[in-house]
Amino acid sequence: MNVADSEQMAATLAPMGLRISPALESADLIIVNTCSVRAKAEQKAFSVLGQLADLKRRRPDLIVGVAGCVAQQEGARILQRAPHVDIVIGTRAIQRLSEHVRRVAEERCRIVDVDLNIPFAENGTAASAEGAPEKVCRFVTIMRGCDNFCAYCVVPYVRGREVSRPPEEILREIREAVSSGAREVTLLGQNVNSYGQKEGLCTFPELLACVNTIPGLNRIRFTTSHPKDLTADLLKCFARLDKLCPHIHLPVQSGSNRILRRMNRAYTREHYLDKVSELRDTCPEIAITSDMIVGFPGETEADFELTLDLIRKVRFDGLFAFMYSDRPNAPACQFAEKVPDDVSRERLHALLALQDGVTFARNSALVGSLLEVLVEGAGKRSGFGSPATTEPAQWTGRTPGNKIVHLHAEPGAGRIGPGSLARVRIERAMAHSLRGVVDDGAGADGTEKGGAHDAA
Ligand code: SAH
Ligand code: SF4
Repeated sequence: MNVADSEQMAATLAPMGLRISPALESADLIIVNTCSVRAKAEQKAFSVLGQLADLKRRRPDLIVGVAGCVAQQEGARILQRAPHVDIVIGTRAIQRLSEHVRRVAEERCRIVDVDLNIPFAENGTAASAEGAPEKVCRFVTIMRGCDNFCAYCVVPYVRGREVSRPPEEILREIREAVSSGAREVTLLGQNVNSYGQKEGLCTFPELLACVNTIPGLNRIRFTTSHPKDLTADLLKCFARLDKLCPHIHLPVQSGSNRILRRMNRAYTREHYLDKVSELRDTCPEIAITSDMIVGFPGETEADFELTLDLIRKVRFDGLFAFMYSDRPNAPACQFAEKVPDDVSRERLHALLALQDGVTFARNSALVGSLLEVLVEGAGKRSGFGSPATTEPAQWTGRTPGNKIVHLHAEPGAGRIGPGSLARVRIERAMAHSLRGVVDDGAGADGTEKGGAHDAA
């Protein structure tokens, strides 16, 4: 979400003649876009800001802004804590950024804009900022904010109430993105399953069906879905819509019903496991990833065992796991029975060790198969190709199931480059990615989708 917001900020500033700077040292404007979902992210934001103080001392004309959730949460306090900051811009104020930058440049004033109640007019990111590379995969924000109030989460307080964008606006943005080179879009929201409900717009499955008809677009993804709102209609989309990738990020947070209740997640582990079965019945090759929190207040060894058991049962394709972190305003920071940090850390390590084994086993099961990969760009080893060609030696892309593949093409395999759909034979599984080679004669654009699945 922050990447999408940064792109939107860059697009908003482009008409002022501002371009993406290749180096921090030469920038006239620096915006630090921040996250406050965990205390660590917030500390990092302040550490980055601290590093800019010296640059501002040497170049007083430099304009420094702070955006995102920490900006929203801390507001004017940031101006006191960091005297070199000129602009504090909240999560719903992005469209006013250029106005603020102009004022600061002209009047050398300091501005705080953290009003959450002003309606958000999206500028769209289709017109990417000058200097930014055209991207094959784009994020498109379809809704902002969240009304769920999970007990641990700061998002409803720093991103405000849930608001959905009208479908016409979303479809226009995607069409424009496709005409400037995008082949894949990820529709973004804190809980996309409740898209449009409040405003009486179309439903999320209806929106997906419309996006599926956009010519030139190859792939659709979305994130994040809340398990409590995963409807039968959305499940069916995985069988019906040819462009919808067989991957769902479905954060579960815990395997214990007692903890899920305390978290205010509004579902049980049984409900979650049922949804996983239904997803796999509808789309056998679907990849399922999730988020997990360990050390939530009151979590006992028995609760944690239930989390491990759920991981063994589901066998996720990937998992993002976090130690619980107290967040301002979130009710859980008042909860008793805090789990000591060393216990949470131990649990996190045990959980990650279990999941690493599962991820590697799932990746290994793909060795030898043919998968469709959307090439996004040159791989890390690029630039070391044959001196006779300017082609990189290695490319990077993702499978329909969202697994990262580092691939190379044998001579004569056909041209590939960013935006190509390549048929790739998987040669090796790594801990968090795959390696493969473009299958003979099928490397060019236009490879049929659907034949190659990455279920393990
Ligand atoms: N809207 C998404 C989650 C957004 S926050 C959803 O409901 O699934 C991304 C992830 O950060 C969450 O899924 C959760 O696992 C983690 N997270 C949020 N608040 C946290 C906290 N206080 N401590 C630790 N992890 C947290
Ligand atoms: Fe946070 Fe829960 Fe909303 Fe996700 S659904 S953003 S975890 S409050």
